Amino acid sequence: MIAQINIDYALCRDPLNCRKCLSVCPSVVFVCGPTKVWKGRESDSREYKIFGRYYDKCSGCGDCVKVCPANAVQLIFVPREQLARKFREERAAQLKER
Ligand code: SF4
Ligand code: SF4
Repeated sequence: MIAQINIDYALCRDPLNCRKCLSVCPSVVFVCGPTKVWKGRESDSREYKIFGRYYDKCSGCGDCVKVCPANAVQLIFVPREQLARKFREERAAQLKER
């Protein structure tokens, strides 16, 4: 089993200034970065997203879920193959959009 970390971006509105989940995580699972890179100007803080990148390091402590003031973090443990399938489907959908 492996952690699937879902962030509800409708609830996580200002991740760059919040970052509570990122700060509390003892396994450094989260990263926060811009969704767009613009030449010649800084990214707006609303263009940042936080996501669980290093989910294979997650111990399942649940601290990120508890600390989130917006209840935006959901943590479930799924079989590794199920998560791999989800990523493949998301990637295929992204490629279709291009
Ligand atoms: S459950 Fe714990 S280890 Fe896993 S992402 Fe959240 S804070 Fe990090
Ligand atoms: S703690 Fe919640 S609201 Fe804050 S950055 Fe993380 S997911 Fe977003």
